[in-house]
Amino acid sequence: MTFDDLLPPVSPAEAAELALLATGPVLLPGEEGYDAECLIYNLNVPLEPALAVGAVDAADVQAAVRFAARQGRPVSVKTTGHQQVHPARGGVLINTRRMKGITIDADRRRARVEAGVIWQEVMDRAAEVGLAPMSGSAPLVGVAGYTLGGGLSPVFGRSQGYAADHVHSLEVVTADGELRHVTPDSDSELFWSLLGGKGNFGVVTALESTCSR
Ligand SMILES: Cc1cc2nc3c(=O)[nH]c(=O)nc-3n(C[C@H](O)[C@H](O)[C@H](O)COP(=O)(O)OP(=O)(O)OC[C@H]3O[C@@H](n4cnc5c(N)ncnc54)[C@H](O)[C@@H]3O)c2cc1C
Repeated sequence: MTFDDLLPPVSPAEAAELALLATGPVLLPGEEGYDAECLIYNLNVPLEPALAVGAVDAADVQAAVRFAARQGRPVSVKTTGHQQVHPARGGVLINTRRMKGITIDADRRRARVEAGVIWQEVMDRAAEVGLAPMSGSAPLVGVAGYTLGGGLSPVFGRSQGYAADHVHSLEVVTADGELRHVTPDSDSELFWSLLGGKGNFGVVTALESTCSR
């Protein structure tokens, strides 16, 4: 048993309060849609959060993080569920799978992708202009989760190194609920902590990185 197991459930009234602020679904255990938000690919660690939030944009992520902070609850992030390490009991799960924005700047060879994008989606868009993103071996893996863990590709690894080293900026909601645009110049400590720190320093809502030709 951990401290998180001792946290009380979120009440329907509390969930309803957050639902007024969020555009995406806010779901308690047992409610329709809760299981779909908690669905994972890797079944090693089933997710059982006190509340699941299906974020559609950065504002939803901010609302969920502020809610969790007010209640003293941990926050977990999920896109595909390929690598969850904690059941999130007592916590707030933020599912980013609806955040699908992709912008390709062909001249600068850059892709800006939102947190719910998987590699296949950005590969398809980048290929239209003759570019390839810094993807790994599996097209169904999330771009954010992969890149925030470093991201070492069997295809690009030898020539390009870690995917994380090709990131130019990160949009991240930190524990105070603020949305920050972070670059190596604006906040180098947070920038480099996020690249390798996975979900430990905030919820990344979008990232911009270089593509290869
Ligand atoms: C089939 C397969 C092949 C793989 N191949 C490679 C490979 O070639 N090279 C390589 O380096 N890795 C590889 N991986 C590992 C993969 O990069 C990690 O499992 C990665 O964490 C998956 O991210 P996800 O978003 O898909 O999974 P999720 O389970 O949704 O997320 C995993 C973790 O990432 C963090 N996270 C996700 N999104 C965010 C966010 N928006 N903000 C903050 N934190 C976030 C959270 O801590 C979360 O718990 C592979 C994995 C699989 C299953």
